[in-house]
Amino acid sequence: MTDALFKAVEARRDEVVALTAELIRFPTVNPPGEAYTPCAEYVGAYLRKLGFETEFIRGEGAPGDTDRYPRTNVVARFDGRVPGPSVHFNSHIDVVEAGEGWSVDPFAGVVKDGKVYGRGACDMKGGLAASIIAAQAFMQVYPDFPGAIEISGTVDEESGGFGGVAHLAKLGYFSKPKVDHVIIPEPLNKDRICLGHRGVWWAEIATKGVIAHGSMPFLGDNAVRHMGAVLQAFEDELFPALDRKTTRMPVVPEGARRSTMNINSIHGGQTEDFRPGLPSPNVPDACRLTIDRRFLLEEEIGTVKKEVTSILERLKRERPKFDYEIRDIMEVQPNMTERDAPVVKAVAQGIMEVFDREPGYVISPGTYDQKHVARLGHLYDCIAYGPGILDLAHRPDEWVGIDDMVESAKVMAVGLNILLRGGAQ
Ligand SMILES: [Zn+2]
Repeated sequence: MTDALFKAVEARRDEVVALTAELIRFPTVNPPGEAYTPCAEYVGAYLRKLGFETEFIRGEGAPGDTDRYPRTNVVARFDGRVPGPSVHFNSHIDVVEAGEGWSVDPFAGVVKDGKVYGRGACDMKGGLAASIIAAQAFMQVYPDFPGAIEISGTVDEESGGFGGVAHLAKLGYFSKPKVDHVIIPEPLNKDRICLGHRGVWWAEIATKGVIAHGSMPFLGDNAVRHMGAVLQAFEDELFPALDRKTTRMPVVPEGARRSTMNINSIHGGQTEDFRPGLPSPNVPDACRLTIDRRFLLEEEIGTVKKEVTSILERLKRERPKFDYEIRDIMEVQPNMTERDAPVVKAVAQGIMEVFDREPGYVISPGTYDQKHVARLGHLYDCIAYGPGILDLAHRPDEWVGIDDMVESAKVMAVGLNILLRGGAQ
């Protein structure tokens, strides 16, 4: 019967191409959150035709939600003939801006050379389309299946997922007993299973000074120089220490298999758009620095923060007039579904049947919506698995391979059969 399942997927090759191209034609660029509603409605109408019940849930009150840019999510559910477990495929419908450097129109859904091109092709409208044909094929071959299949198209993943999966998870859409297993078809390559992601801590550090005339800086206190001392201490102590931390998490690329920190921005003195081009002879009395610290399963967030604050505290003791403030912007716990979790084993079996080899198990260096499923939904049987090639995401001439979509839809269909029917033939 696996043959029947594979044939039923193959029969939908043209359909997965047309669907992906159609989805790309909605320019769901985030920010600001363009065309969310028509795209969600299109997905809903498509699934309703297949017999799914659909619901549209607006992420009201979420960042960016306005009447001009409503955060419209769609959740569709198909209940089998008898009760049983439920499998949820969650895809985000938002995309990042197209940017420069394209050789095709990024929102035309161009199909050529076995690929569908466009912004969001691989991240992740191709994954959404693949999950839809996987469900269709499974439902055709096993019409009496127990349990339920859910497919959602959610917004704002690219900006944190607050109006999307986080909003839905707070309302119970990603919790038992409604949902048991979650597959997020993010572009992690068709023969790999992404078990989770590293943790994140974003913070803003501010140093303070005293304004004075720039010709007599000794009368003031320079906040930018204080921040320079912070950066120097980071270079001397923190970065080397982070570099030495290793993990059992199989993060890809390998360079991310340790702790990292990025300095996102630094702003000191008067804003650059103030009297453009004119220098201002002042001693800056404020400087702000934003840090983006990515941490590992082996690290505890309290310790992660302390590594930074202990440097700041030491500077306060040792450096005359040094004072600082630190403010949390965002924190996300690291996340790793274990390899013997049901959804991992089911998709691994699918990869073995389609590609005749063991899957690669990876961890994403950055986060995605799995964090909300775990923290707000308390659901831990969740992975990312999808057809796109990770390196193409967010780049010009982004594409998704047609064969890749078909093959990963086969993997998903086998996964559905294992999770809902115990793999029976
Ligand atoms: Zn994505």
